[in-house]
Amino acid sequence: MVKTSWTCKSKCLKKTHQQRPWPVRTILTRSQRTSVLGFFSRLPAEVFHMILDQLSVLDISVFCMVSKEITRHVMDYISSLSWKNKTIIQSFHFPVHLEQSSTAEHYRHLGLLFKRCTLLLPTKERLKFSFSKFSEIPCFMMEECSVSSCVGFSRLGVFLETLIAGWDELECQRVFNFLCELTNLMQKAEAVLKTIPGVRVYQELQLRLFCRHVLLDPWRNQPDCQFWLVHLLKPWPIVSQAQLLLVLYGPLLPDGFIGWQNLVESVLPHATLWNLAKGILTLFGKLEVKGWTAESLLSILEEITVIPQPWHMENVARLLVLCGSNFCYTILANKAINGRLTEVSRLLIYIILVCERDGYPMSWAVKLVQQICKLFSSESEKFSFIQQLENKFAEITREFFESSLARDHFEDGQFLQTLSVLLESNVRFHTIFLHMLLK
Ligand SMILES: [Zn+2]
Repeated sequence: MVKTSWTCKSKCLKKTHQQRPWPVRTILTRSQRTSVLGFFSRLPAEVFHMILDQLSVLDISVFCMVSKEITRHVMDYISSLSWKNKTIIQSFHFPVHLEQSSTAEHYRHLGLLFKRCTLLLPTKERLKFSFSKFSEIPCFMMEECSVSSCVGFSRLGVFLETLIAGWDELECQRVFNFLCELTNLMQKAEAVLKTIPGVRVYQELQLRLFCRHVLLDPWRNQPDCQFWLVHLLKPWPIVSQAQLLLVLYGPLLPDGFIGWQNLVESVLPHATLWNLAKGILTLFGKLEVKGWTAESLLSILEEITVIPQPWHMENVARLLVLCGSNFCYTILANKAINGRLTEVSRLLIYIILVCERDGYPMSWAVKLVQQICKLFSSESEKFSFIQQLENKFAEITREFFESSLARDHFEDGQFLQTLSVLLESNVRFHTIFLHMLLK
């Protein structure tokens, strides 16, 4: 709609210009002032640029919408090296938070400027012109800047989000292809995904930072973010999709690298797994995305929880709890229908433990067990499931006790605390379960 009115206005303006040669008077009428370049036509480019030098980026972005000719002159102006040196910040290593936020605003204005001055160009040309200004700056390029506090990617993200806000899906697809070509994104992802997790730590982190800050995090609503995430994952088989999801959203170590072994060996707090849960919810929040089903969800989760080796069961349970009721039920119900009851029982015991430890209402876990129970049609199947769940409680408590004895952790305060939480969770679960039955 904007394009139509713009074109029409430009045509009208041109016509006026053809009918009336340039006036020689210094005082211009209103119509003369609006003709093509008007007053500015008589200025040498250098003087015109000097005037533009006095305007803010936001003012120039508004000014360039006056006419096609002005747009062309503004494009010439912002193509100059002096403008680039003056306006495009080259380094993003700021010690002060205030400086960081002002650069975010600056890049939002730059996004508006490029959005407005390239309005009449085809999508690919718009992108080429806009990104040509950023291509040689190390802080915007993957594997070129290793400063951990660098905010270059996030500023590029702000710029991109502003530039393409409101573009349709086909145009965004072109943006994705363009960025892949510009940054060799897919080749870089392939290099990470074909090696064992944790071997190429620097490349993993760079891939994560670029994708998160430039493509995923700038979008505030789920469908936009889902679009980019689906495009990043689509080219790969399920195992690689799971690995890439962990690269993008997996827990980080204090040194900033991805904590692959922590998923296997330690119990991670919910704050550490929250990002991954958000990533999974972004991907599966709206299942009607082409080609993604509940089965894809199950397959990806199955793969995620065995990378790099099978995870600590409490981490799997905590991730499920963080992903919410529907997600949790879908995964457990699918396993139960496929006869994987031992796995379902073990997961449920850990989900109950997580509810106790993280302070979620135990009635939620009881309802979940009731819902799973309803999947079985006969009374004997229901009884067998409940029996298995109770046995699992005893088995996990015994296992836990024995492994701690074997490792001589009996004196360990953390061990006693976990054992106590496990037993308390058991008591609380059964109290609510029986109470609901007796009501
Ligand atoms: Zn940097």
